[in-house]
Amino acid sequence: MLDIIVIGSGVIGLSAALNLQSAGYQTRILTRDLPQSTASMAAGALWSATDLDGDLRAWAEVSLRRFLPLTEVAGSGVTLQRFREVYAEPMPTPWYQDQIPFCKRIDERDLPRGVRGGYLIDAPIIAPPIYLDYLQSQFESAGGTVETRALQSLDEVAEEATVIVNCSGVGARDLAGDESVYPIRGQTMLVAAPQIREGFMYSGDVINIFPRADGVLLGGIKKAHDWDQTIDPAIAAAFLEKCARVEPSLAEPKILRQFSGLRPGRHEVRLEVEKLSPDCRVIHNYGHAAIGYTLSWGCAEDVLALAQELLGTSK
Ligand SMILES: Cc1cc2nc3c(=O)[nH]c(=O)nc-3n(C[C@H](O)[C@H](O)[C@H](O)COP(=O)(O)OP(=O)(O)OC[C@H]3O[C@@H](n4cnc5c(N)ncnc54)[C@H](O)[C@@H]3O)c2cc1C
Repeated sequence: MLDIIVIGSGVIGLSAALNLQSAGYQTRILTRDLPQSTASMAAGALWSATDLDGDLRAWAEVSLRRFLPLTEVAGSGVTLQRFREVYAEPMPTPWYQDQIPFCKRIDERDLPRGVRGGYLIDAPIIAPPIYLDYLQSQFESAGGTVETRALQSLDEVAEEATVIVNCSGVGARDLAGDESVYPIRGQTMLVAAPQIREGFMYSGDVINIFPRADGVLLGGIKKAHDWDQTIDPAIAAAFLEKCARVEPSLAEPKILRQFSGLRPGRHEVRLEVEKLSPDCRVIHNYGHAAIGYTLSWGCAEDVLALAQELLGTSK
């Protein structure tokens, strides 16, 4: 019998699986969609932790400590990028200002019209098409395996491993019978725009201009309870127009690729153990909403700690 099955190969499943396999647990990923077809592909994906406290802050902190060294690893898809993060209201100094390489308040007279607070920061930004492949190949090189399989219920795998880690994103609504999980529809566009040197993020109106290792990602939308995953040209035109107001050179960009995906919404992240059968426990790890990358490594560390409690550490 395998030690551990991880369900899902988005950023949450891959990070948890890699952590478990690296700690010596024989781990298999079972997933309906391979990494390049998950919601995680559509993400920005900026390490973004401004309003977080409690567990979320602790998870974001751990992730930051894992992402910063990855910005030095060629081929990881993680880069360090300067951003203007602006807000509708004046903001207190970010709690992480001493943990990132650069953080400076923007003078009010240098802020765009309509916003009242902002910081210039250097933060890790992830290019999912590169990073998800990187995680998968690290996992497989360490001896882990990935199998395409859609599950109707967790009970289907209760006899295949002692510990199941449920990283099924919005799929947890059905798989774990958790009606508090809901989709938050997103849509993004990758463009060739090498002239954009500085990132921009305005969460109030969801204006994102993210220079990354694979191009400049523009977005987006956040539509709660909307299951539609089609790429809507009207949505793309609307966010392009907003981005061009910030950066006029983006008015008619060369489009490389478009993405859509459902963020796994929930009132809080579910990271806890549940008994599936006398011999099998499930560690739920889903509901990361709009900040799954930001929380990914912190949650993966907690999954490992829970697995060690369940299986013992003598690997
Ligand atoms: C447009 C957009 C922008 C974003 N920007 C950011 C950002 O800047 N920073 C940030 O930190 N986060 C961002 N996010 C959020 C982040 O992408 C998500 O929180 C994260 O992708 C969730 O990852 P996940 O692995 O839980 O889910 P997913 O990526 O959805 O993966 C779920 C996995 O579970 C599998 N699965 C589901 N049901 C079953 C089943 N029944 N049987 C087998 N397998 C199953 C799926 O096939 C898939 O492999 C963004 C998201 C979007 C959509």
